[in-house]
Amino acid sequence: MGSRQGRFVVQEHHARQLHYDFRLEAGGVLKSWALPKGPSMNPAEKRLAVLVEDHPLEYLEFEGIIPAGLPGAGEVVCWDAGVYRLAEGRDLMERFERGRLLLELEGRLLKGGFALFHMKGRGEKSWLLVKRKDAFSVDHWSVPRALTGERKRALKEKHPPCEVD
Ligand code: MN
Repeated sequence: MGSRQGRFVVQEHHARQLHYDFRLEAGGVLKSWALPKGPSMNPAEKRLAVLVEDHPLEYLEFEGIIPAGLPGAGEVVCWDAGVYRLAEGRDLMERFERGRLLLELEGRLLKGGFALFHMKGRGEKSWLLVKRKDAFSVDHWSVPRALTGERKRALKEKHPPCEVD
């Protein structure tokens, strides 16, 4: 396993369509993917990850209710956060350009090896996130819901530090 590369976050985003935003700190920005079904700890479940624009680092900490009328209007809460390492190569951007990232995640929910790779022939935005088989992988997994009633009541309306997806 290589050295620590940076932080990651997964945000549960209750926009018009509930989805999960996976963001990796790299090169002073957050490389970002939107996962319609969220991540999975089951290696048999390949999860679509739609590449979206880079987001500013401030977005790592963002939680709140994006006001109605703005893009992505709805609640955003942190679903998981932690650090990642590259399991292959040293430079995330170089791996990103090749369309294949092998990651080791150390989050509260996401742990161990993951592959994040571009699907050739499906346009530049279509990637897949897949758990690698290891000591942390499980055969049955469902995405736990982060936005409990209690957390929802504590959230405030807040403008995000950038346009959101
Ligand atoms: Mn989003």
